[in-house]
Amino acid sequence: MAFKLMLQVRRNLRDQFMTEQSNDDEKEPTKPAPVSFADFLEGVQPSRMQGVTDALIPVKNQNDRFEVHTPQIFIHCSSDACNGSRYFRRMGNAPDLYSSQPANIFLTYICSNCRSETKSFSLHLEPKASGSREAQCYKYGELPAFGPPTPARLIRLFGGDKDIFLKGRRCEVQGLGVGAFTYYRRVVENQKTRIFDEIIRVLQAIDAQSPMIETLKRAKDETQFTKALESVKDAIPQSLLINGHNPIMLLHRALSVGVHQQTDEKCLELAHDIRVVLAELAERLSQALKDEAELGAAVSRLMNPKK
Ligand SMILES: [Zn+2]
Repeated sequence: MAFKLMLQVRRNLRDQFMTEQSNDDEKEPTKPAPVSFADFLEGVQPSRMQGVTDALIPVKNQNDRFEVHTPQIFIHCSSDACNGSRYFRRMGNAPDLYSSQPANIFLTYICSNCRSETKSFSLHLEPKASGSREAQCYKYGELPAFGPPTPARLIRLFGGDKDIFLKGRRCEVQGLGVGAFTYYRRVVENQKTRIFDEIIRVLQAIDAQSPMIETLKRAKDETQFTKALESVKDAIPQSLLINGHNPIMLLHRALSVGVHQQTDEKCLELAHDIRVVLAELAERLSQALKDEAELGAAVSRLMNPKK
């Protein structure tokens, strides 16, 4: 009896799966237009089959032999020397394909400017036909991971929770709004004390007597997250304001929205805004401390001129 029931359940599941599958087939989005290999390497996220117009260079007079085209690419280099978009070029020889059968390859690129940062790709290539430059390409992955870079200062601000933040970043890149929002919220909740401590450091450098310091210290002990954010609405130095707004209040606005009441698209928008505000806050915290240290050094030099 139990066996019969199990069979029936299996059959139902299979039917349901097949119905879903055929519905999916009907809804299958139109294929993305083919792109150049440079565009594919630079801008197409992993785990997607993509037509590429110039992935291969057919070798003359050798049927079914291709060299993989490895154009220079323009991507972010996070070395201290570069910290911006730079040209990267292939390292080593271009891989060869000896038939028009699908093949898996690795490519490693190096920054032409600093010659220290590399970028590696793990790819699957399906040549369209012998003699053709076209191929269907699929990225298994890349290192450093796909997506716009996350500033090192922002990563430092999150200390032990940087992995949670980066998971949020991965969700955001893939358009998973609820996931990105939830991870970012978790990071800010966990690291609120650290963020307040950084603001206190800036205040201490500017004016050690500021009453805002006490307000921030009290907020650190507040266990209710949104109350803690609310309580520091007036406790922020001028240098940390973003377009005249307290960044903590901007975060409070975005984070106090109930995730269950929002669409995935709205969550994605909020997650994006949260990340932008956090990146700007991390930048301003670092700049404010640097400015104060520079100013302090200048004042002390002027007050104590060397003989
Ligand atoms: Zn570089």
